[in-house]
Amino acid sequence: FDKFKRGLAKSRDALFGRLTGLFHGRKLDEALYEELEEVLLAADVGFETAMWLVERVRRLAREQKATDGSELPGLLQQAMEEALEDNDPSMKVAETGPSLYLFVGVNGVGKTTSIGKLAHHFKAEGKKVLVAAGDTFRAAAIEQLMEWGNRSGVDVIRHTQGADPAAVIYDAIAAARARSADVILCDTAGRLHNKANLMAELAKIHKVVERELPGAPHEVLLVVDGTTGQNALLQAKSFLEVANVTGMIVTKLDGTAKGGVLLPIVREFHIPVKWVGLGEQMDDLEPFSPKAFAEAICQ
Ligand code: GDP
Repeated sequence: FDKFKRGLAKSRDALFGRLTGLFHGRKLDEALYEELEEVLLAADVGFETAMWLVERVRRLAREQKATDGSELPGLLQQAMEEALEDNDPSMKVAETGPSLYLFVGVNGVGKTTSIGKLAHHFKAEGKKVLVAAGDTFRAAAIEQLMEWGNRSGVDVIRHTQGADPAAVIYDAIAAARARSADVILCDTAGRLHNKANLMAELAKIHKVVERELPGAPHEVLLVVDGTTGQNALLQAKSFLEVANVTGMIVTKLDGTAKGGVLLPIVREFHIPVKWVGLGEQMDDLEPFSPKAFAEAICQ
């Protein structure tokens, strides 16, 4: 929980900082609710979710007979928890054999870093992990994964730049079988500007994965950059059109006041946020907890 609080400090200041000025010495009335809506919109919560939250706060206030402005943060915290309550951060696991997770997302959002952090996370749980360097489009992506692999002591299956990503992942599955690995983390290229290409590449990867490892991929995780706020939503929308995304990773929340964007991601896409990036270090990736999030933002 402390990690959430530290990681979300900027988002908290943006929201709660403004709320403090708002509710001090005031009554819970329509004027205050209108201002709350503005604060939420400024915190990248998005129109639809901001309206929903204000309506929920209004109802909670009625139910709990709250009249004083000082009760606003507590009510908002409850409303936020409700908004996120269906979010299930657990990762699907293979019944037998390795679990395979695909990672998609445009370059620069923190995809490599998140794969590196997760490799470390699963290894620390005592699992045998393999990483597949499936972004063969950029040499730097392969090198970066190698670096993370070295740091966390996890093997990286790679081909040279320009190789067929599906072939890399095919090899990773074979290696995972031979070495009795528990988890395979597969990077993919993030060329969203060329949707047709990306779709064809992902389709080929899916075909190989589904044939070689029935039941896989167990998760397709879309990585988005939290610092881009509402743009992260637009990017996610585009990706949902080309990939069968089953969960999201929202990165760099430590560097932004736009953490509120997590709310519309969960509410409007009905796709769970599985992990959040709260820093650049190996253990700065946390399973997304609505309760910890709401508390970190509102207290
Ligand atoms: P990729 O191109 O999507 O693979 O992006 P990278 O993994 O290379 O990350 C891009 C930059 O974002 C790097 O400098 C990372 O250190 C940084 N980064 C990734 N995740 C986080 C995070 O949760 N917090 C912070 N502060 N920086 C991050």
